[in-house]
Amino acid sequence: MALEERPDAKLDRAVIFLGPPGSGKGTQAKELAKAYGIPHLSTGDMLREHVSKGTTLGLQAKPIMERGELVPDSLVLKMVAERIERPDCSHGFMFDGFPRTVTQAKYLGELLKQHGFHQPLVLHLVIGSSVLMRRLTGRRTCKVGGEIYNIYERPPKVEGICDNDGGELFQRPDDREDVIRERLHAYEKQTSPLVQYYRRLGFLHDIDADKSFEEVKQRMFESLAGIGGVR
Ligand code: ADP
Repeated sequence: MALEERPDAKLDRAVIFLGPPGSGKGTQAKELAKAYGIPHLSTGDMLREHVSKGTTLGLQAKPIMERGELVPDSLVLKMVAERIERPDCSHGFMFDGFPRTVTQAKYLGELLKQHGFHQPLVLHLVIGSSVLMRRLTGRRTCKVGGEIYNIYERPPKVEGICDNDGGELFQRPDDREDVIRERLHAYEKQTSPLVQYYRRLGFLHDIDADKSFEEVKQRMFESLAGIGGVR
């Protein structure tokens, strides 16, 4: 039976999706989290929620996100620490967009130890920069359920409408070409050093992300099964 159909497939681990904006992290992380029945924790989604609610954190993060820069570690770390305290995280979780700096990665290592988790498994999505711009400018997200589409590669059945819940699809304000360039720059400068960091520790699994959505998903399932994360 395919792993994704196994009702007893469980992870007791923290899984990190690492890859540039547009590599498919969010789409894949959501699917895998659903398959394993553990929470999908996207720091980008959490921050966007703070922005839309107008919280203190949201007000601080908004202008930074609009420029495509990284929100300061201190703000993100507090938000993450609070989130993984919740009971739904007791059997593992999938991080999408976190950690994004070596400081964040070190802090996460400590947090996981405190909560009795093994070290994280890192799925690294490898992809050429030419594909990314097309993916990001084509990205559309459902206002209701957050489902992610791509008008070129993964279009909804009806233009502008979510297949799952009929919600309206919107384009993220930071998916504009000038902001995308800044986000890619931030990734190269601040987040790509994490690849080396986790590779040295032996936690990293490279996944070729320039493949169809289904192929990438299958490779991820294989990596998770291969490292004994499934019990
Ligand atoms: P993407 O990976 O597609 O760029 P995300 O939704 O993960 O998008 O993040 C959107 C924005 O939220 C980032 O450009 C950044 O400003 C902020 N952000 C998200 N996660 C973090 C983080 N871990 N540290 C700092 N800033 C973050």
